[in-house]
Amino acid sequence: DGSSFPVEYVSTPILEQGNILGAVITFCDITERQAVERLKAEFVSVVSHELRTPLTSIRGALGLLTGGLLGPLSEKGQRMLDIAIANTDRLVRLINDILDVERMESGRMILVRQRCDLAELLTQSADLMQSIAQQGGVILCCESASAPLWADPDRLIQVFTNLISNAIKFSPAGSTVRVSSACEGPQVQVRVVDQGRGIPPEKLESIFERFQQVDASDSRKKGGTGLGLAICRSIVLQHGGRIWAESTPGQGSTFVLTLPVVVDAAPAPPDTLASL
Ligand code: ADP
Repeated sequence: DGSSFPVEYVSTPILEQGNILGAVITFCDITERQAVERLKAEFVSVVSHELRTPLTSIRGALGLLTGGLLGPLSEKGQRMLDIAIANTDRLVRLINDILDVERMESGRMILVRQRCDLAELLTQSADLMQSIAQQGGVILCCESASAPLWADPDRLIQVFTNLISNAIKFSPAGSTVRVSSACEGPQVQVRVVDQGRGIPPEKLESIFERFQQVDASDSRKKGGTGLGLAICRSIVLQHGGRIWAESTPGQGSTFVLTLPVVVDAAPAPPDTLASL
């Protein structure tokens, strides 16, 4: 009747003794499915925001208690409080990750780009993770080359700290996690190398998908959400870079990412102009 609606189609060949006689093409109106998906994204976003506010206030109250501001605690009380804090922090991380994924999927993850230096971002990220490395008995080294980037510094620090945190999480005490960078023409390559348990070859790509973990028990044992690498990949792609993993199982993993460097005198990248 002239009206248009979103359609998806499936084509099935009709075969007779191996010869194709024709095909049946089924068209399907997906208006309703798209509406459901939109509703789901909205629902996730509203619920996550609504959960974040009370959680922030719970976390604040727990912080006051553990800081001793409201009086001393018994040893058992302090232990209970530590458990409550660790789990509240985990919930906050999960909600933030879910919100990031939702922003990513709906194309609402907006980069706030500025000129920044890769070495500074890597050093800051390593500094942020130093105490967690020490807690795990892992030696964290960072040797980064200076490289000018046109990037969102907060989002890149999110990527680097996520990769370093994973490297520490899956490494035995006494081992080393090495962060380095090197310029290669118009790009810079960042490597996060660990000497941990490694990743089987068939999982090297799937771990960048949402909720994918090498071992189903990883989220429980290691406190992760399975969303970190999916978010990292989206951020790196949005910066015009690439990210992948290499590994020798049992000997360690290497996460590599590339980012375009700013070449002075070259015209600004197209989205630079758009965001000014
Ligand atoms: P999580 O929150 O579970 O760490 P990620 O998306 O960051 O989620 O990682 C997905 C999975 O990839 C992890 O659960 C783990 O199984 C695997 N993984 C990530 N980094 C490493 C690493 N450095 N060494 C071994 N396995 C890793």
